[in-house]
Amino acid sequence: MISFNRVSKHYPNGTTAVDDLDLELPEGGITVLVGSSGCGKTTTLRMVNRMVEPSSGTISVGGRDVQRADAAELRRGIGYVIQQAGLFPHRTVLDNIATVPLLLGWGRRKARARAAELLELVGLPADAGKRYPHQLSGGQQQRVGVARALAADPPVLLMDEPFGAVDPVVRTQLQNELLRLQSELRKTVVFVTHDIDEAVRLGDRIAVFRTGGHLVQCAPPAELLADPADDFVAGFLGAERGLKLLSLSTLADVPQRPAPTEEAGPKGAGGRWRLVTSERGEPLGWRDTEGPQGDRAPLLPVRPLRDGDSLLTALDESIASPAGLVARVDADGVLTGVTDRELIHEHAGRRHAEAARTAAAANGTAADGTATDGTATPQDAGVTA
Ligand code: ADP
Repeated sequence: MISFNRVSKHYPNGTTAVDDLDLELPEGGITVLVGSSGCGKTTTLRMVNRMVEPSSGTISVGGRDVQRADAAELRRGIGYVIQQAGLFPHRTVLDNIATVPLLLGWGRRKARARAAELLELVGLPADAGKRYPHQLSGGQQQRVGVARALAADPPVLLMDEPFGAVDPVVRTQLQNELLRLQSELRKTVVFVTHDIDEAVRLGDRIAVFRTGGHLVQCAPPAELLADPADDFVAGFLGAERGLKLLSLSTLADVPQRPAPTEEAGPKGAGGRWRLVTSERGEPLGWRDTEGPQGDRAPLLPVRPLRDGDSLLTALDESIASPAGLVARVDADGVLTGVTDRELIHEHAGRRHAEAARTAAAANGTAADGTATDGTATPQDAGVTA
């Protein structure tokens, strides 16, 4: 959908911001560009809508060479979101969102109706439309920025550190919103961040850049985490690669068994611990049946998990849970069973091995380092020499 073919950008002062970039960004996916500050991510992004012109090479969007397109027209067909939203301060929220539709000649009424629709889509109340940007929180402004970028329903969305300026809680909310929107809209998204956790959370593919504008590796997050191309990528991913990998798989196919509730009787999975539930069956907390206060003992907290929660969250809860048990609930929050720590560990290990195998297959080597096409690898040579 978006392709970079031998693209370089040199600035007159001698800086090479992007160096001979070949990259294909698939349609309908989120590709995240990561790397430390100054490695060429923003330059790469801005060459897509011609805010920066490449020194050499070609970039095409939907098969069309962007150099041959009219820049203003090109930009109207590509949504653009930046840090701190970049909203027009003297226009209302609704008018901000309606900017591109108005430029496209939709007419005031239709543009505003579309803006109101988008306000709802990004989770803002209708009355926010009449306000000015400074009357909204940072997170709300960022949502307006996303709504504005989506207004004319462009197939491509460029997002440059869009959530960089908000606190971690709001950032997580905005990331969740983006994933929800994307599951409906299926835009081709290019997302720049220097935060590897954000990249792993959002990316269908992650492109890692190194200073000097070199692309080092581009792969789906699980593949990148299981098999980084070199020490630079491994260092960038950080020491807890295995845990990050667990954030990508869910609890869905990890079995559960009956929970040790009060009704289940004194003997069961939880040993001395009982899971207390509400009348509706929602887990309320753990009770220590052998504690000195007996039935009056305060409940220890439980964090009930759903099938869609990650194995990393499950591992965390299994450590925090006094019984080493994770309480599982259905979509309505009603207890369905428990899974114990050991089983979560076992599945975590299995996912890790699977990811390593998939990555090795994608790179033409088996997980043990031998080539899958039957030829010898350098590792083999080391062993047999
Ligand atoms: P990133 O987004 O990864 O932080 P950028 O793409 O913004 O990196 O910048 C890449 C390199 O190009 C940096 O060394 C930066 O200083 C340099 N650069 C960016 N814009 C210009 C410019 N207009 N003139 C000269 N150098 C620039």
